[in-house]
Amino acid sequence: AKAEGRGRACVFVPEDEQRTLQRVNTESLLREALEGQYFELYYQPVFDLDDQRIVGAEGLIRMNHPQKGLLAPGDFIDVAEETGLIVPLGEWVLEEGARQLAQWHQEFGCDITLSLNVSSKQLQNARFAGRVATVCEKYSLPAGHLVLEITESMLMHNSDQALEVMKQLKQLGCLLSIDDFGTGFSSLSYLQKFPLDVLKIDRAFVMDIEANETHRALVKAIVSMSEALKLRVITEGVETEGQLRCIRQQGCELGQGYYFSRPLKAAAFNERIRSSETL
Ligand code: C2E
Ligand code: CA
Ligand code: CA
Ligand code: CA
Repeated sequence: AKAEGRGRACVFVPEDEQRTLQRVNTESLLREALEGQYFELYYQPVFDLDDQRIVGAEGLIRMNHPQKGLLAPGDFIDVAEETGLIVPLGEWVLEEGARQLAQWHQEFGCDITLSLNVSSKQLQNARFAGRVATVCEKYSLPAGHLVLEITESMLMHNSDQALEVMKQLKQLGCLLSIDDFGTGFSSLSYLQKFPLDVLKIDRAFVMDIEANETHRALVKAIVSMSEALKLRVITEGVETEGQLRCIRQQGCELGQGYYFSRPLKAAAFNERIRSSETL
């Protein structure tokens, strides 16, 4: 009914139809990929900016389709959210990530943490914390090496159920991280109502940090307030040496981004750790 209000419906309707068609196609692609196990978890290392050692990784999903090739989450994650398929997808990510982390712990010792992105649908599922506990047990993983990332905008639209699940995850010993911080217009004091451990400063602030004095001041303020709130800060999207220098000047201690490494397949990530160990 709203479509008429926009006038020129003849222009918009085919576009809407195309979008619907695309959605339906993506949905069946997702089902096919879940069935055929076409997903792959890539890992982007997180670095200590002082000594440039790898302290952790973020798991980032890819779809590796036999006909369509490699697809980034931007091509399917929204539809996965809308259709609820993000729940089985998230289960796969959790299982695969935990399995990989356990292997790293065996091979490289115990100090790497793994961050996984969690959608609000998963967080609203009363059984989610139980699933995490089961997977940690299965792979003998200390829950404290698992970081669950929740975007700032998801937190702002939180339900009591999501907060309850976060508390359960905390009780298990998992670390909780707020992702894309700075884009959702929430205040740091608002964040206090959630049991958070890590705050990730959104890439948008890093992108122009050298030229944009306001962003520089904001990053500095976020860092110092995070100290007061006892949150660790990770800066994402570091692409250049200049940006690295600049975020360090603002007090940032941890970072990830193309300057250090793109997201890697597990085997390449292993190589990266091995070569950094021999430095
Ligand atoms: P995100 O969690 O904010 O992840 C960071 C994104 O920035 C990743 O894109 C990463 O590849 C990209 N990136 C990393 N360093 C740089 C850099 O220096 N410059 C630039 N321009 N980009 C950089 P990706 O892998 O395409 O993922 C996009 C989003 O999809 C993620 O954003 C996350 O919200 C979502 N996502 C990825 N994997 C999962 C998953 O397993 N579950 C859920 N629910 N969402 C996921
Ligand atoms: Ca340090
Ligand atoms: Ca993330
Ligand atoms: Ca992010």
